[in-house]
Amino acid sequence: GYHQAVKENRHLYNLLQELRGNIRVFCRIRPSFHVEAKSSIDYIGNDGSMMILDPLKPQSSRKSFQFNKIFGPNASQEEVYKDTQPLVRSVMDGYNVCIFAYGQTGSGKTHTMCGPSSGPAKDMGINYMALNDLFELSCSRSDINKYEIQVQMVEIYNEQVRDLLCEDTSSTKYPFFINYSGNGGVSLPDAAMHRVQTTNDVLDLMKLGEQNRAFSSTAMNNRSSRSHSVLTVHVHGKDASGSMLKSCLHLVDLAGSERVDKSEVTGDRLKEAQHINKSLACLGDVIAALAQKNSHIPYRNSKLTQLLQNSLGGHAKMLMFAHVSPEADFYGETISTLKFAQRVSTVELGAAHVNKENSEIRKLKEEIDNLKKAIACKE
Ligand code: ADP
Ligand code: MG
Repeated sequence: GYHQAVKENRHLYNLLQELRGNIRVFCRIRPSFHVEAKSSIDYIGNDGSMMILDPLKPQSSRKSFQFNKIFGPNASQEEVYKDTQPLVRSVMDGYNVCIFAYGQTGSGKTHTMCGPSSGPAKDMGINYMALNDLFELSCSRSDINKYEIQVQMVEIYNEQVRDLLCEDTSSTKYPFFINYSGNGGVSLPDAAMHRVQTTNDVLDLMKLGEQNRAFSSTAMNNRSSRSHSVLTVHVHGKDASGSMLKSCLHLVDLAGSERVDKSEVTGDRLKEAQHINKSLACLGDVIAALAQKNSHIPYRNSKLTQLLQNSLGGHAKMLMFAHVSPEADFYGETISTLKFAQRVSTVELGAAHVNKENSEIRKLKEEIDNLKKAIACKE
C-alpha cells in the first residue's frame, strides 16, 4: 500500500541519484555588504550556470562556470535546505553522506551550516534542519522499527583533532585516534558520542560545540575561520526482518579558503596557512579522484580526508557548497573558489556520459511520477 509506494519512490530516487553520479556542487552567493556597489556576479542561470566579471575591469571577458545549482543572494535558508533534503534523507536508506561548506572567510559558510546565532527556526542552517528531518523520518518510517541517532563534533586545527562536545576541552587528548580501517566502524572512537532524542538535545549540543569553538577563537585570534569543524550524525536502525542499518552524515564547515600572502605572514599564521592549504588541496584531490573514478584515492594525506574516508567514495553521496562573496575586492578569491569547485564537480565530466543515461533517467522519472500519482490517489 502507501508505505510500499513511498519506499519504492525513495528507492527510485536513490537509483536516479546513482545514475547521475554521487557528487553534487552547489554555489551560494552571499548578499552584498555594499548594496549600491557593482557585484562580480554577472549572470545566474536557473540551469546551474553562472558568469562572473571583475567589476573593476568591466571591459575584460566574462568567465563562465557550471554547477548543479546556484543560489543567488536572495535565496532563503529554506530554499537551500529544500535541495539538500533528499540527500539528507538518503542517510535513512543506509547511505553515508558528506556535506561541505567551502569558501573564503566571510562568504557565508557558517550561515549555511548553522544559520544566524539567533532568530526564527526557519532561518536555521543545514545542521539543525537535517537533524530535525532525521528525527521526523525516524518516527514516520514504519519499515524500520528502531532508530538510534548519535552525534559527535570535532574541530581539526593544524592537523590536530579536538573534541568539541566534551565538557572540559582542556583535557582533550592528542593525538586523536582515527579509525580508517574501512570496515564501517566509527571513524573517531576517541570523540564523545552523544545520543540525541529531541531537537532540543541537538540545540544544546550545538551550543556546547559553538562555545568550545568560540572559546579558543578569542584565545587564538579567530581560530574558527582557520579550522574545520565536523558534525557527524550516526544513524543506527533495525528493520522488521532484523537486519541492521548503519550510516552517517558528516556536516563540515571548512576552514577559510583564502590564500595568504606568504611574504607577509610568519610564525603561527604561516603554519596555519600551510596546514589549511594542504588539507583543502587534499580534499579537492580526493573528490576529483573519486569523480574520475581513479583507482588510487589519496585519503591519507590529511586528517580531514582520513576522518571522512569511510564516507567519501563507494556508495557515499557528497555535496559541496561553494560560497562566494559578491564584492569586487574579493574577485580573485571568488575565481579561485569557483575553480576549485569546478574541479571537484562532475558536471564538466563528459556530457556524453550523461547523455547516454538520459533515456534511463527519463524512464525512472516517469516511474516516479506514476508512483507519486498512485500515492496521491491513496491519500
Ligand atoms: P564564513 O563562515 O564563511 O566566514 P559567515 O557565515 O560567518 O561566513 O558569514 C559572514 C557574514 O555574512 C555573517 O554576518 C553572516 O550572517 C552574513 N551572511 C552570510 N551569508 C548570508 C546570507 N545568505 N544571507 C544573509 N546574511 C548572510
Ligand atoms: Mg565561519
